Amino acid sequence: MKERKSLGFFPTPLHKLDRLSARYHPYELFIKRDDQTGLASGGNKTRKLEYLIQEALEQDSRAVITMGAQQSNHCRQTAAACAMNGLECHLLLVGEPPALPDGNLLMSVILGAAIHYCGEEISQGQVDRLVKDLQLLGKNPYLIPYGGSNALGALGFADAVGELQQQLESLQLEMDYIFFASCSGGTQAGLILGKNRYNLKGTLMPVSIQKTGTDRNSLEIMVLDIVNQGSLLLEMEREFLIQDIALIRGYDEAGYGVVTHQEKQAIHELARLEGIFLDPVYTARAFYAMTDYLDKKLIEPGARVLFWHTGGLPANFHYAQKIL
Ligand SMILES: *Cc1c(COP(=O)(O)O)cnc(C)c1O
Repeated sequence: MKERKSLGFFPTPLHKLDRLSARYHPYELFIKRDDQTGLASGGNKTRKLEYLIQEALEQDSRAVITMGAQQSNHCRQTAAACAMNGLECHLLLVGEPPALPDGNLLMSVILGAAIHYCGEEISQGQVDRLVKDLQLLGKNPYLIPYGGSNALGALGFADAVGELQQQLESLQLEMDYIFFASCSGGTQAGLILGKNRYNLKGTLMPVSIQKTGTDRNSLEIMVLDIVNQGSLLLEMEREFLIQDIALIRGYDEAGYGVVTHQEKQAIHELARLEGIFLDPVYTARAFYAMTDYLDKKLIEPGARVLFWHTGGLPANFHYAQKIL
């Protein structure tokens, strides 16, 4: 059994969305509030980081390295987790330094992270060089992959299913469908593991955020790898197959981080009906996909549908022009 370092406030709330349910009658809509994990404005990376930061501490690392886009929620939450634990945080980010950091990047800077701008893409060479530099300084760096998405991080979302299951039992509720955003795959992998482990009823509805091919680099293959490694960690004695990995494609056509009328509509709709903010990159895309399924009755009318809110609030401030 792997240990985890407490970084957030759990369980996150689960509640009904009355006005949204009325809008999408006869569906009943609920939300799981991982935007409220409490770690520097919250989000789904908190659950993964509880395992990853624990391992960094166990290995006596003094510095953590991770990477992502400039508006990475994962990088911002990693910076916060490092600050809480007295660890140096090094972020390798795509692109050039902006004139003025905003949104998640602003928060990562405030949280004290060292930012390394990598240009058009982050190469393995850049990662290796930073690892080496920090090793030479005796910092024994701990490397966290994109999105914190490996088997260890995914355990956080396997646990999350147990948390949800308890909440549903005490409310005497069952969900028929669970929609959420899937991008680096750790959240989806963890939910698949947890669903099996805790016998969660209902169908997982992962919405692809970043368009990938159908080849060996596809998100399905990435998720499958994480799931099978996680299955070993959890001693589940089950091997998963590619058929076990669902993915809703078709809402990711615009590309990663491109805000279209779909994301804009979703952000305004949930804010105005329920007073809840989505984010423009992940949750708005997944939420739009969900409402499109409901509008088109692609799932059976009357179903109970859960939206798993994975956070991302600060990115709204970066994308303001696209959202308004
Ligand atoms: C990272 C992220 C996701 C996607 O989670 P993965 O585990 O990378 O698939 C979804 N929503 C938000 C807000 C995120 O920051």
